[in-house]
Amino acid sequence: MTGSWGRILFFDLSSGEHRYEEIDSDICRFWIGGKGLAGYYLFQEMTRSWKDPAMPLVFMTGPLTGTLAPASGRTCVMFKSPLTGTVGDCSVGGSLGWQLKKAGIDGLIITGRSRGLCGIEISDGTVSTEDAGWLAGASTDELYERLKRKGAVAGIGPAAENGVLFASIMVDGAFTAGRGGAGLVSASKNLKYITVSGTGKVPVHDSERLRKANEDIRRLVAATPALTGEHGLQNCGTAALYDLISSRRMMPTSNFRRTYFNKASSMNSHAYGDAYNPKRYGCKGCHILCKRVGEDGTHLPEYETMSHFSSLIENENLRAVTEANRICNQAGMDTISAGATLACFSEITGEKLTPYRITELLIGMASGKGKGSELGQGSYLFAESKGCPELSMSVKGMEMPGYDPRGAYGMALGYVTSTRGACHLRAYPISHEILRKPVATDRFSFAGKARIVKIAEDMNAVIDSLTACKFLFFGCSLEEYASAYSAVTGNETSAQDLLKTGERIYFRDRMMNAKCGFTSEDDDLPPRFFSEEGSSGNGIEILPLNREEFLETRSKYYRIRGLNLEGCPLRSKAKELGLEHLL
Ligand code: SF4
Repeated sequence: MTGSWGRILFFDLSSGEHRYEEIDSDICRFWIGGKGLAGYYLFQEMTRSWKDPAMPLVFMTGPLTGTLAPASGRTCVMFKSPLTGTVGDCSVGGSLGWQLKKAGIDGLIITGRSRGLCGIEISDGTVSTEDAGWLAGASTDELYERLKRKGAVAGIGPAAENGVLFASIMVDGAFTAGRGGAGLVSASKNLKYITVSGTGKVPVHDSERLRKANEDIRRLVAATPALTGEHGLQNCGTAALYDLISSRRMMPTSNFRRTYFNKASSMNSHAYGDAYNPKRYGCKGCHILCKRVGEDGTHLPEYETMSHFSSLIENENLRAVTEANRICNQAGMDTISAGATLACFSEITGEKLTPYRITELLIGMASGKGKGSELGQGSYLFAESKGCPELSMSVKGMEMPGYDPRGAYGMALGYVTSTRGACHLRAYPISHEILRKPVATDRFSFAGKARIVKIAEDMNAVIDSLTACKFLFFGCSLEEYASAYSAVTGNETSAQDLLKTGERIYFRDRMMNAKCGFTSEDDDLPPRFFSEEGSSGNGIEILPLNREEFLETRSKYYRIRGLNLEGCPLRSKAKELGLEHLL
């Protein structure tokens, strides 16, 4: 099958040995690539501890990576999450996927544990491990500056080396595999970095058809205001969401005690524009370029980071948000978990967080010193240690992102059914409920949300397996990407075929979690959302969620997804999806 090389590089850090393994093309078709294929290699190992040396850390490209297909060069990083104990997977930008593909590799699977801190270096067919002791404690941008001449750089910062449960892997110093603790898994293997460079050309089955699909995608993107309009992602970055979410009175504020932040208008994308005069940059192979860097070289925060280091912790100092973002990125920590853990700390201790204190606590988290060392375990373990786990605004131990579920009921369901814990990237019903695309729905109703969430999860599983960018799907659909996939691979596939594969992938991830003991008890929100009102006003009422309706909708979702009443996979559904051999 063209598009993929059909080749995985396995690296055992205990022995220092590596080998290439061919992938059967039927398996590539069955799982697409990216997230789908990464899970194929992780599944059998899921009952191990995340820190077991035999537990794989997987980097997987997609079939379109390195081709003309727009924004398809992301990389799936898959692992067992130290933060949640669930399957962990992140889609990360930067040039890693492209370089792996050009080096003739579809994926890299790392097991074992090196005796000392090491790096893996790949340059076309040459693979080696190198001593990285001299880089111990190096920040992620120091790592990038020192190694960038070797190609793409993926690495960890001091937070991972110091045991932070939500430590990230940074790619090219600016792109984050953030959620769930991939960085800590890398640290447990004594792996500081990976560099990859390649010179190969990815084979494409039908270049003319791919050119046509590329044109179609670009035309639809150009016609979509949310992407390329004056207030869209291309012009404002994800910061564009800040005003929108604030105006809907669903901005997580004060550890989700309120839903409106009265300083929001001085912390939005315009405020960043005035303060930093930013320029665009982005992932390789993408023409949207939704990231922002100030003229002084400061990387600017994205929406979730903005919300979590401003309203969520009641900080009204813009430069303190930027500084918090810088500390987290350089140390290699997920900004969502870090911000939400500070908010939880602030509520439990009653301490008001000043810019100085925010910096002090984040540095403490990353270095494992002082009060910060307790916070490096995440909000759930911190709150539990203080006898009040209900004050951690998390699901399965992962902190919630920048949308209060009392303002968008689909998101309430999406948070609990996400296989990696509270997440907006497994399903994004905000698209229907706030952006009104592709079909507008009532945000204060659970009606229809079970099906919307299920379909969105299936679709996003496909996108993460193609290693494409979800943002482009505000404008185009799986139809254009099915055409691109068919053109690249020569495997004629429709959007419906892809969606069915997405269902299989999502169900498989649910099976992985079930193997680890996760049930419906874990698919729940903190009690606050069922008992406390948000910040009503301006004609908008933010009421507590109705628990009965929530549970009824969750049951509907289980039925549609092929799960039993306890949220566990049904044999009949596994059989329908061709997965009974995994039961
Ligand atoms: S839209 Fe943004 S996140 Fe998506 S591929 Fe482009 S630069 Fe990366």
